[in-house]
Amino acid sequence: MTEPKLTPHRRTFLTTAAAGAVLGPSTLVIDGRRATAAESTHSPNILRGEVLRTIGTLSVDEQRLTEAPREIPVAGRSQVLVCGGGPAGIAAALAAARSGASVRLIELAGCLGGVWTAGLLTKILDSSNKSGIMAELLRLFAERGSSVARETNGTVYDPEVAKLVLEELLVDAGVKILLHTRVVGAITDQQNRLVAILTESKSGRQAWVADQFVDCTGDGDLAAQAGCQFDVGVGQDCTCQPMSMLALLTGVDPDAVREFIRETDSSAKRQLLTLMEDAGLNPSYRAPTLRHLHSGIYSIMTNHEYGVSAFDNEAVTEATIRARREVHDIVSGLRKLGGPWQDIAVVATAEQLGVREGRRIRGRYQITADDLANGLRHKEAVCRATFAIDVHALSTAGNQEIDQTFKTSGLKPYDIPYPALIAADVDGLLLAGRCISGDFIAHSSYRVTGNAVAMGEAAGRAAATSVLQSVLPHELDWERIKTAPASR
Ligand SMILES: Cc1cc2nc3c(=O)[nH]c(=O)nc-3n(C[C@H](O)[C@H](O)[C@H](O)COP(=O)(O)OP(=O)(O)OC[C@H]3O[C@@H](n4cnc5c(N)ncnc54)[C@H](O)[C@@H]3O)c2cc1C
Repeated sequence: MTEPKLTPHRRTFLTTAAAGAVLGPSTLVIDGRRATAAESTHSPNILRGEVLRTIGTLSVDEQRLTEAPREIPVAGRSQVLVCGGGPAGIAAALAAARSGASVRLIELAGCLGGVWTAGLLTKILDSSNKSGIMAELLRLFAERGSSVARETNGTVYDPEVAKLVLEELLVDAGVKILLHTRVVGAITDQQNRLVAILTESKSGRQAWVADQFVDCTGDGDLAAQAGCQFDVGVGQDCTCQPMSMLALLTGVDPDAVREFIRETDSSAKRQLLTLMEDAGLNPSYRAPTLRHLHSGIYSIMTNHEYGVSAFDNEAVTEATIRARREVHDIVSGLRKLGGPWQDIAVVATAEQLGVREGRRIRGRYQITADDLANGLRHKEAVCRATFAIDVHALSTAGNQEIDQTFKTSGLKPYDIPYPALIAADVDGLLLAGRCISGDFIAHSSYRVTGNAVAMGEAAGRAAATSVLQSVLPHELDWERIKTAPASR
């Protein structure tokens, strides 16, 4: 892939950095010793395990640490940089690469797919009316998957198949993938345009430069770091939907437990709850869901973690440990029932506690509950969402007020407008997936993965088109993006 051309403003940024205007002291540690002044001007050799030491001052009361500025190596450049490789991010990267841009995708986990894979989700909702990348993925998940995947047109998929398919597609499209890497900071220029990001990984702190950025981190980390305004949850205390730990199970004959499998009947969840209660179990998720994936493998969602903020790492850690304990306790309890359950066992619990809600970044359009009630039609629609308003219980007491006001009033299929994918406060930044611009109720519907993929595809095309036509995403209209030539 050819090195992307630098835009004039990018040259200005690089010149500023090279001139040392934003640089300060740093210490390079080589072979366990502090580098000499001459050696310190070089970037650490990461293959030799060299690191940049942080210089800091701890306040006298030990409540604050002041970190000295340090020089961060620019590790790479791309025309489009996608942060987060979940359902939205993989689609954004794929679409941008297929539209002819050089693309880098930065992902925190050790695999692509986000909640689909690291979260062990196993079910894709609101995908049947989607074309493009979503339809392509469903076809591949079905073709490469089990008989269950084929019978469900790929909507019930095997997370391991998904990991492999996503890696193959993105590698084939020429996307440069970086796993195990967290986006930790963003640099904007004087015109408030995003020009670079910072990451942390085993390679240390690194900077990445790009022409256009897409935030697909689910929680809107990049946009927040770039200075965008956002909303979280509902009410004064920003209450969010509960998190859930998903798991894979084995040791059960599907024919013997058919009535409890979600795909068999809508009463399956209720029957599973009754079975658990009869066994003396009290699952924190009151609509436990068992899915048959293939041969002897199942997935289960039976846990809710209430009142945990996605941004309180200590609370997320405690919730993860509590949730994993609950999954194992429930499986042990089912095993004690004997009969078809006597050999049930946990194969894997998700590495990532499933986060339903993070930041909703302010965009140039905000999707509202009224838009859902009225069935919004928008001339710049990137896709049509049809999934129900689905606010999981915000506490153990449930959601009577929300259910009465919104759920029972219903929803008409509505458009997701392109401007809801464009950050309002920072230029050169697109959004896709659950962090786009909408209110609490609208988010509870559009967040599901059939929509996340369609949004990602739109944002990726828009980012590539912006680069190729030398304009900013908000200067494009969706008609131009749709008709922009794709290299594929
Ligand atoms: C428990 C649960 C059950 C659900 N059930 C369903 C269902 O049955 N069907 C359905 O379609 N949808 C379901 N959803 C909703 C759906 O999974 C999400 O809304 C969807 O994953 C949104 O896609 P995304 O790409 O925006 O976010 P995510 O899937 O969350 O992906 C975000 C990605 O960004 C990465 N990331 C985050 N922060 C950083 C960072 N700072 N630096 C680098 N990378 C970062 C993450 O590791 C992740 O890979 C469920 C969600 C949960 C939590």
